[in-house]
Amino acid sequence: MSRNNKRDYYSVLGVEKNANENDIKLAYRRLARKLHPDLNKTDPKAKEKFIELQEAYEVLSDANKRSNYDRYGFSGVDVDMSSFFRGGIPGIDELLKSIFGGGMFSNDFGFGSIFGSRGRARSAPRREVGQDIEDYVEITFEEAMFGAKKDVVIQRYTPCDECEGTGAEDPSSVKTCPQCEGSGRVRKMTQSGFGTIIREAECYTCNGTGKIIKKKCSVCNGRKVVAETKTIHINTPPGVENGVHLKVQGAGHIPSSRAIPGDLYLGIRIEDNEQFFRRGNDLFTPINIDIVTAILGGEIKVPTLDYKNEKITEKELKIPSGTQHGTEFRIKNRGASYLRGKGRGDQYIVVTVEIPKKVTEEQRKLLEKFKG
Ligand SMILES: [Zn+2]
Ligand SMILES: [Zn+2]
Repeated sequence: MSRNNKRDYYSVLGVEKNANENDIKLAYRRLARKLHPDLNKTDPKAKEKFIELQEAYEVLSDANKRSNYDRYGFSGVDVDMSSFFRGGIPGIDELLKSIFGGGMFSNDFGFGSIFGSRGRARSAPRREVGQDIEDYVEITFEEAMFGAKKDVVIQRYTPCDECEGTGAEDPSSVKTCPQCEGSGRVRKMTQSGFGTIIREAECYTCNGTGKIIKKKCSVCNGRKVVAETKTIHINTPPGVENGVHLKVQGAGHIPSSRAIPGDLYLGIRIEDNEQFFRRGNDLFTPINIDIVTAILGGEIKVPTLDYKNEKITEKELKIPSGTQHGTEFRIKNRGASYLRGKGRGDQYIVVTVEIPKKVTEEQRKLLEKFKG
């Protein structure tokens, strides 16, 4: 399905933009039971609808992806449809169990088990994902039109080498927490009028890390990560638009050596250029001509894009006699490149006829004569 005719994820799930985690979970569960191809055999589009639902849920149930989607729409999230349900869609019960866990009180409804994306194996524990980094890069108008190579310096966290990312001065002394047996979470049972409620909470002995450390690593001070300054090389595509975000996969924070690195989102800021104004892929160039050239015609020079030499050059433009104020002359193929597909927009030279504010005595006489 192409991006353009995709349905908004919130509409797919039928929830409000401010829906909480639980609303989303419930909406998904309800719709999954309705749309699953096993239960919806008469609808030829059942599979398509179900995958649409699954994709919407994958994004909206993940706080990180959801916030990217809220900010940048479909271009902010990278959902890999190719790996969805490789080998067929599981049965509805198996599927819901793999997402929500066996019991009603389970906290774990990670997607690692059914989505093979990013190499996560079926039923493997959910891998930690590093935070994304947002930054921006400024480019000139020429760089936007012809494409550019840019170096962007970012700061991110990477695992501390000194302690092998354990946070301990002596990595071999790290012990598994006896309280939670390394899971970092403990189950708490409370009695209420409705029966027994089981809740999961962070283990207080190890603060949810699952590990007990005797002495902290002096380099990272027990934080397991250190700040790293990194230069990222990027290529901005020809025709890139102001405000677009380029995604550099894996260039975000890396919380541990086993984690999936976050991504880097680079906003493009294009410097203004007074000779070219962009609308879609067309460029508009305002040009002043004098009143005599407008009436009698002539040749003028206009700035235009020289794609062969990747620079702005001047081009001769013939002004026919009797050219009116506001006339647009089109120069084909001299607009901005299309990011997808081939070709370019056009350039339009927009004429302003300058009316002189002062005339000499002689000019006045000639004009009076012209008026007749
Ligand atoms: Zn513990
Ligand atoms: Zn360290």
